[in-house]
Amino acid sequence: MSARPHYRASPSPATASAWGAPAPAQARPRALRFCVQLRLHFHFRSRVAKAGSSGVVPEPQPADLLCGEARGSSSKMISLSIKRPLVTMSFLLSSLLMLLTVATPSWCQRSETTSPKASNRAPFPWNKMRLPEHITPVHYDLVIHANLTTLTFGGTTEIEITASKLTSTIVLHSHHLQISKAALRKGAGERQSEEPLRVLEYPPQEQIALLAPEPLVVGLPYTIVIDYAGNLSESFHGFYKSTYRTKEGEVRILASTQFEPTAARMAFPCFDEPAFKASFSIKIRREPRHLAISNMPLVKSVTVAEGLVEDHFDVTVKMSTYLVAFIVSDFKSVSKMTKSGVKVSVYAVPDKINQADYALDAAVTLLEFYEDYFSIPYPLSKQDLAAIPDFQSGAMENWGLTTYRESSLLFDAEKSSASSKLGITMTVSHELAHQWFGNLVTMEWWNDLWLNEGFAKFMEFVSVSVTHPELKVEDYFFDKCFNAMEVDALNSSHPVSTPVENPAQIREIFDEVSYEKGACILNMLRDYLGADAFKSGIVKYLQKYSYKNTKNEDLWNSMASVKLGPSGSRICLFLIHQHWRQEGLDVKTMMNTWTLQKGFPLITITVRGRNVHVKQEHYVKGPDDAPETGYLWHVPLTFITSNSDSVQRFLLKTRTDVLILPEEVEWIKFNVGMNGYYIVHYEDDGWDSLTGLLKGTHTAISSSDRASLINSAFQLVSIGKLSIEKALDLSLYLKHETEIMPVFQGLNELIPMYQLMEKRDVNEVETQFKAFLIGLLRDLIDKQTWTDEGSISERMLRSQLLLLACVRKYQPCVQKAEGYFRRWQEANGNLSLPSDVTLAVFAVGAQNPEGWDFLYSKYQSSLSSTEKNQIELALCITHNKEKLQWLLEQSFKGDTIKTQEFPSILRAIGRNPVGYPLAWQFLRENWNKLVQKFELGSDSITYMVMGTTNQFSTRARLEEVKEFFSSLKENGSQLRCVQETIETIEENIRWMDKNFDKIRVWLQNEKLELL
Ligand SMILES: [Zn+2]
Repeated sequence: MSARPHYRASPSPATASAWGAPAPAQARPRALRFCVQLRLHFHFRSRVAKAGSSGVVPEPQPADLLCGEARGSSSKMISLSIKRPLVTMSFLLSSLLMLLTVATPSWCQRSETTSPKASNRAPFPWNKMRLPEHITPVHYDLVIHANLTTLTFGGTTEIEITASKLTSTIVLHSHHLQISKAALRKGAGERQSEEPLRVLEYPPQEQIALLAPEPLVVGLPYTIVIDYAGNLSESFHGFYKSTYRTKEGEVRILASTQFEPTAARMAFPCFDEPAFKASFSIKIRREPRHLAISNMPLVKSVTVAEGLVEDHFDVTVKMSTYLVAFIVSDFKSVSKMTKSGVKVSVYAVPDKINQADYALDAAVTLLEFYEDYFSIPYPLSKQDLAAIPDFQSGAMENWGLTTYRESSLLFDAEKSSASSKLGITMTVSHELAHQWFGNLVTMEWWNDLWLNEGFAKFMEFVSVSVTHPELKVEDYFFDKCFNAMEVDALNSSHPVSTPVENPAQIREIFDEVSYEKGACILNMLRDYLGADAFKSGIVKYLQKYSYKNTKNEDLWNSMASVKLGPSGSRICLFLIHQHWRQEGLDVKTMMNTWTLQKGFPLITITVRGRNVHVKQEHYVKGPDDAPETGYLWHVPLTFITSNSDSVQRFLLKTRTDVLILPEEVEWIKFNVGMNGYYIVHYEDDGWDSLTGLLKGTHTAISSSDRASLINSAFQLVSIGKLSIEKALDLSLYLKHETEIMPVFQGLNELIPMYQLMEKRDVNEVETQFKAFLIGLLRDLIDKQTWTDEGSISERMLRSQLLLLACVRKYQPCVQKAEGYFRRWQEANGNLSLPSDVTLAVFAVGAQNPEGWDFLYSKYQSSLSSTEKNQIELALCITHNKEKLQWLLEQSFKGDTIKTQEFPSILRAIGRNPVGYPLAWQFLRENWNKLVQKFELGSDSITYMVMGTTNQFSTRARLEEVKEFFSSLKENGSQLRCVQETIETIEENIRWMDKNFDKIRVWLQNEKLELL
């Protein structure tokens, strides 16, 4: 799955900087006792549950299960079992065990107290979120009839299963489905027989239990047959309704699926866990005016009744339930073949099919790249990419039928922006990478989600840098690491590989840690092993585990066995020290330090003559007197010096060490190219030397090194290692900077500072700070042309700088934008504006009510996602409170502005100095409806919570936030994002207390020099 656009899937600085949506504020946390307790509680629950279902507790399965059955069905069930003929040895054993279990009252009695009750009040025979492992699905036959008029669907699901233990209870998932009939079929041909199954439902676990009159025989094939019906979901998951308006204004309906992580059970009863892989034969019934698409190609269509067609799709490869997909719509498509004969098609609503060509070409090129890179052919004969008008995240990797938000797939050559081209290419590359990482080889359980998402995120950069070199994606990589570090620096963060159990917890780990940190530590490993060795490791992993499920350690074992080529001797040989000898590579031990503990190290460098003292400690935000965590990492350090730009390497495994340089140096820069997931502090005059270097000849180090220095400097301010004055001094070099990433990183650090001030009553300093920022970048702003020329990064830089300048009322910019807006309005919106300056022009136009209304009228008729997004953001920066409130209400309602846009609108208004109290109020008043629509634990909910609250920096607001979320109890108080925002507000308070006065004084001293 790809995250929401404007957040992670598209380059965040591009859409974010001037809007203040970059890395969530200067997240400056404090580990509240309150938070710590919540966290402990959370982990405790998860761990206990995990132990119970994974066999860590001695003798889990037979005794536990039987105990489960016994406590579920009470004595009646036991006596029934005992009367059965003793068919197998294993039954005998089970019976003995059962008797033993019953004779062990302490165990069962304890469990009986938690015995769940089915919806008909009968005892439900299973009390765990995870399904029992002894029934395995082999093949599904699905028939689904979607009725787009009544907005309902009906279906029959047949599942071939086998039992590995004697049991008469089959537990599987079903959520919001009305089951009318269930039966068990056994035997074949004339001997085939069918007997009814009793159905018990247990909604809290989204499970049903099917009770057979007789136990299933181990190893024999059975088929369960379930008839059911349901309503098309009104949310964005399960089998859900989507609508769109044609050019002529007609509203049309379609139905599409989004199952990851736990919503396949809303469309058909199934064993909805990633390790229960099976094959699927899917048949979809529809009206003749629609078409159906699914994972596999269409085999035939038959008319089953008047006005009812049944499409039969080819049987799938073995796969997890969350990857199943089907769509009933009136979409149009365009297609092309890859060199290896895979048919690639892009589907969209008819009015937008002319925007499908860019994605089609990109998909063909990327699919060819992956087949070659992974040395494993794409196993299906087709790959469809469908743009869905209502979509919660950015995209979804369903095997053979990837689905996308329209803005993540459709490219309008006239109106789409440079960042939209980059975003579409990255999103398509992400979903296609999943066809191998995730679909072919799948994590065993969601705790290792990062094996899917970290890899897919990482492969975006590996593939696009080769297939679309002009996009220079490698420039944007380290920004992902900064994003991840922002949340990973908090106490509420979690290890990459982390226990999760219930659906809300599972949804919560679709976060920066699984995606971005996952990708960053893989990049670090690739840098350490060398690109070729890394690649051969992952190819080995994919080949070994095709159609199977894996754990963290399976990946490291595959990596550990690779041989390093000549370029792979990556230890600093010129350094002489007794601790440094070339040791065998222990990838697993090294990577466990990055995946099994949260956070990242701060490396402190002290240079004494030729000696470089290095020290590692856990970088964690919070009060200065917080206790040391004692975490230790295996850190692949890299550095360059004033005397040598060839990269030196050293694996730091201990808390401290000393490197000896061949000669003394003027400066030393660690973490070359920001390939490592750590930040660096330079003691003594280390920072002064680097600041001097930047102010003198900043091009002596790469633009990513410059950006990483900016990031590290401000991160160090947060933990009191560097003064705010020194960090701001370093930022002054930006006056001479022209490269996109250091400029964006500067904005990511500086904009949130004035945004914190905007939410306090400190007008004078706030105004001075904004003037300082524009003064700092004025030369670069003045240099921008009002065109679409140049490379993608030049264009993205232009777009953001002009927007910032116009929003901050830099007059040369405002006047030009006003002129453009006037002409555009006079031409009734038919004048073609350069797409890179459109955002700035709209932002200025939206400042007066008449311009705002005109923009909104164009919003309604626009067919371009980029244009709609640009208008939407412009509308959100007005200072007119009525209009802001109206926007919140309209996007929440979802008629003219789609509800999928609500999170972005809420967040944009949450960043608006006039609008933020409205956004916070709206979130509180509509919380229950929001979690119904977007689901507890989803990325959208996190985005909204952080977007409305994490720039607060007063104690009064902190109390408000704590009070509101704790009042939600199980409906939100336990969310990780709530702990994140509380930690962040605490940190903001501390940060402002410590730095605000210093900033005021510094600004007064700098003013003359800059302006
Ligand atoms: Zn993904």
